[in-house]
Amino acid sequence: MNSKPIRRVVIAGGGTAGWMVAAGLAKCLGQQVDIRLVESEEIGTVGVGEATIPTLHFMHEILDLDEKEFIQATQATFKLGISFENWRNVGEHYFHSFGKTGKGHWTAGFQHFWLEGRRRGLASDYGDYCLELRAGLDNRFALLPDNGINYAYHFDATLYGQYLRRFSAALGVQRLEGKIVKVHQAEGSGDITGIALDNGALVEGDLFIDCTGMRSLLLGETLGVPYESWSHWLPCDSALAVQTESVGEPVPYTRSIAHPWGWQWRIPLQHRVGNGVVFSSKHISDDEAKAALLAHVQGEVLRQPRVIKFTPGQREVVWKNNVVAIGLSSGFLEPLESTSIHLIQRGLTRLVELFPTDGIRQSDVDEYNAQAREQIEVIRDFIILHYHVTDRDDSAFWRGCRDMDVPPLLKHRIQHFRDTARVMLHQGELFAENSWVQVMMGQGILPRSHHPITRNMDDRSLADFLGEIRRDVARTMMKLPRHQQFIDQFCPAPRLEQPKAPAAAVAPLLNPQARVDSVELADGSRVYVIDDFAQDPDALVALAQSAAGRFKAPPGHPYPGPQLDLPDAVSAALDACFQQQFRARLQAGAPLGMYGRFSRVTQDAGTLDARQRICHRDDSALGAGEMVCASVHYLFRDEQLGGTVFFRSLMSEADTRQFMRDANTLDAGAFGDKYGIPPGYMTEGNRYFEVIGRVPARWNRAIFYDGAIFHSGDIRWASPAAYRDGPGRLTINAFFKSRRP
Ligand SMILES: Cc1cc2nc3c(=O)[nH]c(=O)nc-3n(C[C@H](O)[C@H](O)[C@H](O)COP(=O)(O)OP(=O)(O)OC[C@H]3O[C@@H](n4cnc5c(N)ncnc54)[C@H](O)[C@@H]3O)c2cc1C
Repeated sequence: MNSKPIRRVVIAGGGTAGWMVAAGLAKCLGQQVDIRLVESEEIGTVGVGEATIPTLHFMHEILDLDEKEFIQATQATFKLGISFENWRNVGEHYFHSFGKTGKGHWTAGFQHFWLEGRRRGLASDYGDYCLELRAGLDNRFALLPDNGINYAYHFDATLYGQYLRRFSAALGVQRLEGKIVKVHQAEGSGDITGIALDNGALVEGDLFIDCTGMRSLLLGETLGVPYESWSHWLPCDSALAVQTESVGEPVPYTRSIAHPWGWQWRIPLQHRVGNGVVFSSKHISDDEAKAALLAHVQGEVLRQPRVIKFTPGQREVVWKNNVVAIGLSSGFLEPLESTSIHLIQRGLTRLVELFPTDGIRQSDVDEYNAQAREQIEVIRDFIILHYHVTDRDDSAFWRGCRDMDVPPLLKHRIQHFRDTARVMLHQGELFAENSWVQVMMGQGILPRSHHPITRNMDDRSLADFLGEIRRDVARTMMKLPRHQQFIDQFCPAPRLEQPKAPAAAVAPLLNPQARVDSVELADGSRVYVIDDFAQDPDALVALAQSAAGRFKAPPGHPYPGPQLDLPDAVSAALDACFQQQFRARLQAGAPLGMYGRFSRVTQDAGTLDARQRICHRDDSALGAGEMVCASVHYLFRDEQLGGTVFFRSLMSEADTRQFMRDANTLDAGAFGDKYGIPPGYMTEGNRYFEVIGRVPARWNRAIFYDGAIFHSGDIRWASPAAYRDGPGRLTINAFFKSRRP
């Protein structure tokens, strides 16, 4: 196909994929090929991907890495499995461990003996027969001789990339900084000959590894390989990631907590915790997901959440011409079972196995593509299993997952297990029988029958068999130290300065001379008012206007106009101001994170839905013992556009709740008919609420208040054009979540 020998390899992209490929190729083939890696600091990496599975040990064996050095360099912790919470149903949890459960027979896996034991009243919980599961839940860990415990790691993705970069540099990989702006192709064949960077450099090569992330610059954009979407099976298409300070000892497992619209992860590292939500944008907006994420994290937020959009799926082929895509450029499966880094590793090892030193042959390309497809499809099916087999009925999202048609092989596997407790795997599949069994039973399938070989054991021998395994697990488990204790003894990582925006760097955004006044509301609570709040309010308006195209009005969001997330520095300044000046005044406890955005009111008063016609509180998605305070910073000079008006309910608490529920569930017409509230912004009292205070808008004024007080924009909508044209009624709205003291 292309008999040109491969001497120059160019890796485009320096995320986890780029540096894993660089390290692996340099270690295995560095003497035969020249390896260069191009990456762009300006573009950056996806910045997530911190939970792994035990196959990573093989990668590290190939590289001959020192485990302790790797753990310390990446602030890693140990991982024994994943705790799936609320997946089968709300309040029901199970653990998918990396361990083996019990002992099987060549005819039948351990689950058959356990089911027989259960039938005869001789077996305890399935998890009692698995060391990794028991140790994980008991927060214990140690390295055991003879691979006596099967484990993986949680690590800091950025530090891992840096670690592999140093490793690769030592093996001669050359790193080039720059943005790829043009891709050169040979006429006729379409092979890529070089990539041009924004600094004028042209990087030529014989084989190109596309590690450019979801952009897929070489395989997708340049060679036009189509993307096959699997979103009809995997409904989540968005994620938000946020890092928080550690508030306790790290547990040796990933937490995966299901919500009505997707799920949330928690990954404890030595220096911080990685958190995120994976969700379906059809079922929750980015802002609601962000609020839900912040409502469910523990510890102070170190960086503001970032939205990542994706389509689950895979490129039709991952090797075409002289381009091999590895990592997100080749496809993406959501991180439910932490499989992406494994797929990078498989892409790399397959490439080394089939490396086209003497020229690219179509048979190698076909083999590579066939294996890639097979490997990702079985993982895809395993992930779909978690969504599909569920008793959850509490949201459209879960009902959709439960009712969807799944791929034929998965359908067969579920039915086969349901009927017989059997899991028949194909050679080379990633997830072993025990993984399938743990997830299928965890999600609620109890097989109708099991293998007859188990009936050969009388009660006594079956009880002894099960009891011995259980006692063995318990004995070993009791000898293990706590996970944190083991880390402290074996591999404590150096303390790292957390990347919090330093107060000094952001302080100039706000005016240190600004005076704080307060307005007492009729119910005795206070709203704090600061005039001349920002040092340079025009710069904030200019910042918002320069990003005008990125303002979005998320469908279904109650705010009546478009919004844009605040840059981190502005959020950090606001947060620092809240913590120093208003947290105590508003009687808020320990901080639990904040979220801020630019907002503009643009929606015609006549088109408001039920929720938008009435006042509201900012306390949705709060957990027990939590509260939220809010601020509004007015960035418009026309005071007629309206400040903020505060209300008190005239109804009982139960009627108030019903009223708010109706506003959230009835359409505008039905709500109007039921309560007699006409279309329009709420600026005055009515039969249900009375006004308890008002703060007029003023250029560069900010107010801080308790989000539990009912309030509304004081929007008279006298001149619609004034709201719609230019920056209009531009505000910065921020929400500060705290513990209740
Ligand atoms: C929300 C989320 C959570 C995840 N969690 C996990 C997990 O727990 N476990 C797991 O195994 N995997 C996880 N993954 C997947 C994992 O993050 C990725 O597989 C991994 O980070 C590899 O990414 P990458 O290197 O392919 O892409 P990226 O990190 O996006 O890197 C792309 C690289 O290409 C460069 N680049 C792009 N365009 C250009 C250009 N024009 N010029 C020059 N350079 C360019 C970028 O600068 C960057 O260096 C997760 C993914 C997501 C989205």
